[in-house]
Amino acid sequence: MSTLEIFNPATGARIAQLQADTPASVVAKAQAARAAQAAWAATALADRKACIARFRASLVAEIDTLAALLTSEMGKPIGMARGEIQGLLGRIDFFLDAVDLATTTETVYAQDGMREQIEHVALGVVANISAWNYPWFVGGNVFVPALLTGNAVLYKPSEFATLTGLAIARLLHSAGVPQDVFTTLVGTGEVGAALLVQDIDGLFFTGSHATGAKIAHTLGPRMVKMQLELGGKDPTYVCEDAHVANAAASLADGAMFNTGQGCCSVERVYVHEAIYDAFVAAFTTTVTGFKMGDPTHEDTYIGAVTRAPQLAVLQAQVDDAVAKGARLECGGKQRSGPGNWFEPTVLSQVDHRMDVMREESFGPIVGIQKVANDQEAVALMNDTRYGLTAGVFTPNEQRARALLARVRAGTVYWNCCDRVSPRLPWSGYADSGMGLTLSTYGIATFTRPKAWHLRQG
Ligand code: NAD
Repeated sequence: MSTLEIFNPATGARIAQLQADTPASVVAKAQAARAAQAAWAATALADRKACIARFRASLVAEIDTLAALLTSEMGKPIGMARGEIQGLLGRIDFFLDAVDLATTTETVYAQDGMREQIEHVALGVVANISAWNYPWFVGGNVFVPALLTGNAVLYKPSEFATLTGLAIARLLHSAGVPQDVFTTLVGTGEVGAALLVQDIDGLFFTGSHATGAKIAHTLGPRMVKMQLELGGKDPTYVCEDAHVANAAASLADGAMFNTGQGCCSVERVYVHEAIYDAFVAAFTTTVTGFKMGDPTHEDTYIGAVTRAPQLAVLQAQVDDAVAKGARLECGGKQRSGPGNWFEPTVLSQVDHRMDVMREESFGPIVGIQKVANDQEAVALMNDTRYGLTAGVFTPNEQRARALLARVRAGTVYWNCCDRVSPRLPWSGYADSGMGLTLSTYGIATFTRPKAWHLRQG
């Protein structure tokens, strides 16, 4: 029987050893989910909503222990861990409010004895293969609306957030969701790959483009509904009329929050040449003020890097940039000692020959590039294979709207960044993925619209 070992990335200590799923247990869990789904879909929506409301109440009751668990397995500073669970409460409230509207059968035609209706039917059994960086958020964006709309969920948390995944299952079950309607699969990518080949009606994935591409390759010929929420290399342009101090403070936070491990973290900053030097100075001052250290401390802002191999990726990006002429404003290296630590790093005088401006960093490093005008900024923002979010800082809304209309990104920000709302759809262009979560569209996505043609006989 294979095991999954869980390490604390802040200390390097092993904190748990779990029994991992096997090919046979994955098959058994998928079959049990299939057998359980119809009864769950037949349950009144009000009863499914009551289960999710009880789940929400248990998050409130256990928030401190759940936050500590998340911090222990992924190194997220404790305040941010609590903030993530707190943030999920608002998302649950949105889903509870909006699910009736998104799933009510619509009569779209009624004339001469003929009626036409659209019914929103649960997909059936959905697999959710998830990432570790915001496990409550990215998991909740899928399993909450999927359960509300009557699906059974096979949930494969990341191997770096499995303790949180097991806690989610425990709380859902004690809130009344049947065991086989929400099932956790424990293991690495091998277990995820075994899940893909089961009898599923939908696959909802959050993770890297590399894994997403493998999944698309496997599932494509089977015509299974597939949603892939993948990486980003998210840019922001700071115009010459922007408030320098405000923009620098907001963007430094957007780049470094969650130790830079966000799909919508700010990874590229383009600044108009008229304010470039002042902006770099203000940005660097903010970043050097961020406290890095023990993530269990309330005042820690920069925690551990969750995955040890990412340290080499970050170092290679810094070294590549510096070798090609970038200036290291602060940070730039790993911290020695136990655990996975990388100093918050700001690189100026960067350009698009450098990996730091092209490849996802997913860590506490950011590049700031000087631009001469709006035209150049838009061209550089679009010079990427990704397209998750993009932003513009300027007091002029018309100018921001005109610029952002030309940027290929699923989400755009005016004078803000690194922000997700349950009321708005979350989606990406190009290598940032396909499909969407959140908003009423992100509820409907767990249903299939069934067309009814009804004539009185
Ligand atoms: P990852 O691709 O390494 O792993 C994601 C999940 O896929 C894990 O559960 C893993 O076990 C599983 N997996 C790995 N190989 C598999 C395979 N062959 N078949 C099936 N499953 C497999 O990604 P990660 O490191 O967990 O997450 C970081 C990435 O996620 C970043 O690129 C980030 O930008 C992205 N992300 C995107 C969003 C979004 O909303 N677009 C949100 C969060 C994270």
